[in-house]
Amino acid sequence: MAEVILKNVSKVFEGGNKVVIDANFKVEDKEFVVLVGPSGCGKTTTLRMIAGLEEISGGEIYIDGKLVNNLPPKDRDIAMVFQNYALYPHMTVFENMAFGLKLKKYDKKEIELRVNEAGKILGLENYLNRKPKALSGGQRQRVAVGRAIVRKPKVFLFDEPLSNLDAKLRVQMRTEISKLHKQLGATMIYVTHDQTEAMTMGDRIVVMKDGIVNQVDTPMNLYNKPINQFVAGFIGSPAMNFIDVNVNKENKLSSKKGELNFSLSAEHINRLKDHSNKEITLGIRPEDIRLEKNINKVIEIEVLADVIEPMGNETFIYFEVEKIQFIARVNPSKELKIGGKIKLYIDEAKLYFFDKESGNYII
Ligand code: ATP
Repeated sequence: MAEVILKNVSKVFEGGNKVVIDANFKVEDKEFVVLVGPSGCGKTTTLRMIAGLEEISGGEIYIDGKLVNNLPPKDRDIAMVFQNYALYPHMTVFENMAFGLKLKKYDKKEIELRVNEAGKILGLENYLNRKPKALSGGQRQRVAVGRAIVRKPKVFLFDEPLSNLDAKLRVQMRTEISKLHKQLGATMIYVTHDQTEAMTMGDRIVVMKDGIVNQVDTPMNLYNKPINQFVAGFIGSPAMNFIDVNVNKENKLSSKKGELNFSLSAEHINRLKDHSNKEITLGIRPEDIRLEKNINKVIEIEVLADVIEPMGNETFIYFEVEKIQFIARVNPSKELKIGGKIKLYIDEAKLYFFDKESGNYII
């Protein structure tokens, strides 16, 4: 049972810089958990504390039921894959993968067996005698993963392993790592700043901001029920549109200058009943703004398109509401013109509301 538990884990660097504050989460055995958040939020530091590469300032970390706070990395039964691959340039692929096992004095036969098996899993059978410089970026990445696989660790840790690859290869390696996770049935913890990577790979996702774990949940729950405005804006691409609004006594919602203004349905009135007289932030996902009026309850708006981006299978329309940039993600249409007036329909059932002061999601 290679589960990983973090209990009130914190990290304070010299000078009092608190970069991880009371992190609490549990990674189940065989689970793929992604730590995601903007640059500098403390993801890598959290991963390095699990690996034992960074001392813990407070709290407890358990791997497989064992408290590891004072255990050196080599005794934690984990393997880490780094962003820069960290391959030895003078060694062949085989030697790179075998290196850790040799250090641990594994039997030669066993080493061969494990390296060949990892080579097969990763499609590197024909490259075992090559040096890293004669490999593509994707192949080097696979060797780095292979080096982790041969150790058969309890837990795999990945620190932004795909960020040096081009966009196409990144998508390919993403699916390869997901497949590998299923094939090996291993516990994996994966750090990225890329929300698409997090959403597509994670069984569950830990969303961090400024050293604080904001939400731990499945991709769909993060998308549908974000705990606060930060998570709502971070998960989803293009990002959710936000605008501050008020609700009056007649249950009419309007933005400051009234450019956006509509009567709330009974469901939303009920949802916002404890927030009368409070400022609210309205959130609308780009994909919930459409060109077609083909849903039951819609809010109709007329906008001027600033930019139109045809993506082939969909089109992004950029427009302003009270000087705030909005994006709509709509079906392709030949009739869209920059500067032209466009009627758009917002799905009434898909509105998100946040308390402006706390940023909390209003369920
Ligand atoms: P990125 O996506 O940019 O790698 P991250 O979320 O992984 O960011 P960390 O690398 O964990 O963030 O860094 C968190 C914060 O801790 C940053 O503000 C960073 O400057 C600071 N930090 C990291 N290492 C040290 C260190 N050794 N001493 C002092 N501060 C550090």
